[in-house]
Formats: sequence, C-alpha cells, structure tokens
Amino acid sequence: MSVTTNIQRLKATLPPQVRLIAVSKFQPVGKLQEAYQAGQRIFGENRALEMRDKHEQLPEDIQWHFIGHLQRNKIKYIVPFVAMIHSVDSPELLEDIDRAAAKAGRTVSCLLQLHIARETTKFGFSPREALDYLAGGDWRRLEHIRLCGMMGMASFTNDREQVLGEFRQLKQCFDTAKENWFAADENFCELSGGMSDDYPLAIQCGSTMVRIGTAIFGSRPVNP
Ligand SMILES: *Cc1c(COP(=O)(O)O)cnc(C)c1O
Repeated sequence: MSVTTNIQRLKATLPPQVRLIAVSKFQPVGKLQEAYQAGQRIFGENRALEMRDKHEQLPEDIQWHFIGHLQRNKIKYIVPFVAMIHSVDSPELLEDIDRAAAKAGRTVSCLLQLHIARETTKFGFSPREALDYLAGGDWRRLEHIRLCGMMGMASFTNDREQVLGEFRQLKQCFDTAKENWFAADENFCELSGGMSDDYPLAIQCGSTMVRIGTAIFGSRPVNP
C-alpha cells in the first residue's frame, strides 16, 4: 500500500475527535512529502536533531510533535518550533522546557507521559507520581508550559485485555487530573495513546491522538 492510500484509509476510519499523528521517525524526507501531499499536517518524531533537520526541509504549516525521550541538552533544538511534546517524563524536564520556551518567547504544549506498560524500559511517571506532581502545584509557575493532557504506551503484547486495562488506567488518571486541577482549563483535553497495532483499543478507551508509523509508512529503515 502507498503512503497516500494508508493515510486516506486511516482518516476514513478514525472518529472525528481523534487526530492522526504520522510517526515519521527514521523515514526519509521523501516519505514525509508523500504524506504531506496526501493532506497530512501532523508528524511525530522521537529524535530532536532529526526533527529539527526535517522541519528545515519541509513546509512551514506542518505541526511537529515530539514523542520520544527528550534529552535535556537537546530541548533547545526543538523548542522554537515544536507544536507539542508528548513525552514529558519528569518534573525536571518540564522545568527545563519552560526555561527554554521562555528564552524562545514561546509557550509549549506538553503532555505528561505515563508509564502504563508492564515493560520496565519505558520512561514516564506512574499514575500515582503524575497525580502527586499535579497535586504539588509546582507546575503552576511554569508560565511557558501549556499542559494539555497525558500520553502512554501500552505493553507490546497480543493480550487485548492487558492492553485495554492499561489504556483504561491512562484514561482514568487523565480524568482524575482533569477533575481536580483542569476542570476549567479547556487546553487540558488530550489523551495520546495508540500505535499501529493497538490504536483501535486506545480509541475505545478515550484516546484523542493516535501515533501511527508503520501502518502509514511501512517498516522503518534500520535505526540510523
Ligand atoms: C515509534 C513510535 C510510535 C509508532 O509506532 P508504530 O508501531 O510504527 O505505529 C508511536 N509512539 C511512539 C512513542 C513511538 O516511539
């Protein structure tokens, strides 16, 4: 299937409240251009320098979403243009993004990344840690951060119930945060969950943004 067909099919099946993030990490610029021609305007990348380079080569109206672990010394490369950082995995990172955003004269939209999977290698807050952090209130003085919701990755498994349980946990944590600290904040409305293999389950659990790579672009070139 071509990139164009894949995007058209996906868009036709996604409910209207769900946005498609085309995960283009490791893909050559030509593939992103193909997706752009098909009308795709939101791309997800997980390496700061790769995202910066692609941003320089592609049209200005693309929204760049950062979805990988962000090293603190790389924040400055993406803060001037990034549309959303899905993968804020510590309070320290959020503070560093705030400082960099202030310097760049921007307010950056961010999601807190929750660790919901069984795998131990993934970054993120546990639901408890995220709620404790929000309850603490330190984030309120970060004037250049717009907290927009939460992101999570489910376990890599065929066990549907396991995956559903994890996405439900993500949604529940989001709902608790919304109720307690963001009820009046319309920006806090995004739940980023679901990849090529599990996005229908994530949508079933309230996801508003799906991050899809392989099902659009095919398998990725080997880690460059
Ligand atoms: C690579 C990646 C995706 C996309 O994965 P696919 O299985 O190719 O759809 C989504 N989210 C994150 C955080 C990723 O790193």
